[in-house]
Amino acid sequence: MSKVHAVSHWWNQIGEPEPSDILQGSLTCDVVIVGAGFTGMWTAYYLKKLDPSLDIRIIEARFAGFGASGRNGGWLTNTITGGHEWYLKKFGVEATKRFQLAMNDTVAEVIRVAEAEGIDADIFKGGSLMVARTPAAMQRTSKVFESALPEEGWQRLSAKESQEHINISDTLGGLWLPDCARIHPAKLASGLANVLRKMGVRIHEGTITSQIIPGREPDDPIGPGPKLPTVITEKGEVQAQVVLRATEGFTTLLKGLKRQWLPLNSSMIVTEEIPENLWNEIGWSGYDTVEDAAHIYSYAQRTKDNRIAIGGRGKPYRFGSEVNASGDIAPETVEQLSNVVKTWFPALSGIGVDYGWSGVLGVPRTWRATLGLHPGSGMAWAGGYVGTGVAATNLAGRTMADLITGRETELTTLPWVNQEARFWEPEPLRWIGIQSVYLGYRLADKSESAGGDKTSVFAKLANLLAGR
Ligand SMILES: Cc1cc2nc3c(=O)[nH]c(=O)nc-3n(C[C@H](O)[C@H](O)[C@H](O)COP(=O)(O)OP(=O)(O)OC[C@H]3O[C@@H](n4cnc5c(N)ncnc54)[C@H](O)[C@@H]3O)c2cc1C
Repeated sequence: MSKVHAVSHWWNQIGEPEPSDILQGSLTCDVVIVGAGFTGMWTAYYLKKLDPSLDIRIIEARFAGFGASGRNGGWLTNTITGGHEWYLKKFGVEATKRFQLAMNDTVAEVIRVAEAEGIDADIFKGGSLMVARTPAAMQRTSKVFESALPEEGWQRLSAKESQEHINISDTLGGLWLPDCARIHPAKLASGLANVLRKMGVRIHEGTITSQIIPGREPDDPIGPGPKLPTVITEKGEVQAQVVLRATEGFTTLLKGLKRQWLPLNSSMIVTEEIPENLWNEIGWSGYDTVEDAAHIYSYAQRTKDNRIAIGGRGKPYRFGSEVNASGDIAPETVEQLSNVVKTWFPALSGIGVDYGWSGVLGVPRTWRATLGLHPGSGMAWAGGYVGTGVAATNLAGRTMADLITGRETELTTLPWVNQEARFWEPEPLRWIGIQSVYLGYRLADKSESAGGDKTSVFAKLANLLAGR
């Protein structure tokens, strides 16, 4: 495997940029966003569209797209993070359907903006396949189908129909979802950053924020403090009417937010280029994305240059919420993901791995993404997408732009707005909990592979422990 210095294969392909426009001292502006991932950049994009006169600054520790946004599996999908069940129970059918339809529109919106702004991000909307390879997974996909909202668009497939999409070994059946497109994450991130710069948004890269201080009134019970919310960096302080925290898996590194969102590692590999005859042999002639229905599932895309990029959990959590920012991947994770490719497609046993990397996801205690704005303190936040943020960040960005400009719209009344998550448990409970959850899923996958048509009790216990 050839590992160069980039944080992902995607960045390796187009070249990792040097940080530019580093902050030079303190300033005041209209809106400051911490984090130049998709969340921060989409918010800036729609804000600037709504009000071109706004002075918007993004503070970024490394470079735009350095985080999960430049490292992900490239699934632009309509999935609601954490599923729709909780929203159905808490907000009812209408609100949940509106949320789902908004996610469907979001897939189309990202494709529309990329086209309108001339961003070539290898986007192809080929739908998405979920494959069941064990009787228990088959039963689970049936449950997903039966409890799905019609608006999600799931279609049930027989083994033969599923294999007509992609011929994965031991397929028993599957589900197909039309609202999913493949993207090249780094091309989308760098394209978006360039568009923003042209629109006049300043992205201060190479600038680390250590703390965000909410704005306070003079009689605030907490005591005196700056009236405007303030971003403290090593290069100076930035004050604004609104500060948006868009730091996702890195949020834990900010002062006072250690237990806000759990940083969960996620890993990927990309194979060598695969010749056309082998694509025909494995029956992957289109560009559907594909995942299996295991508890520790793997998900993959066929890249524009004909490789398989496949992701899975790897080593999910490090004690004390330590963040692995470098992109390093453990050799056993590379082997594990490479074995998934060979198991799914025995014809690819001779195909090697070209690159492997990791990234970090933000996981709220509820496992549901959220965004909001406290008008009193000027503090806004968005994130906690777990593994489904490529599309959701765009919806968050559009919604956040409406919230910041004080507009009441269809988007600002969606049920994920202003839901705050409670903190994660302190260590060592956090570490023990996450290790136990993933041990449960590993044992469940093992026992389900050995037979039985019911979801393993280990998975049920793991779900209970995770609070999902
Ligand atoms: C390996 C992997 C595969 C994934 N696959 C998919 C997928 O296929 N489909 C999908 O929908 N989702 C996927 N995801 C999730 C998705 O990538 C994320 O949900 C999404 O990119 C989050 O965007 P963001 O802007 O909120 O966060 P990020 O992209 O992580 O951006 C946060 C930014 O904030 C900066 N930052 C953080 N702290 C500070 C600080 N203190 N000071 C200054 N800057 C700071 C970081 O450098 C970073 O650039 C995947 C994630 C990973 C890691």
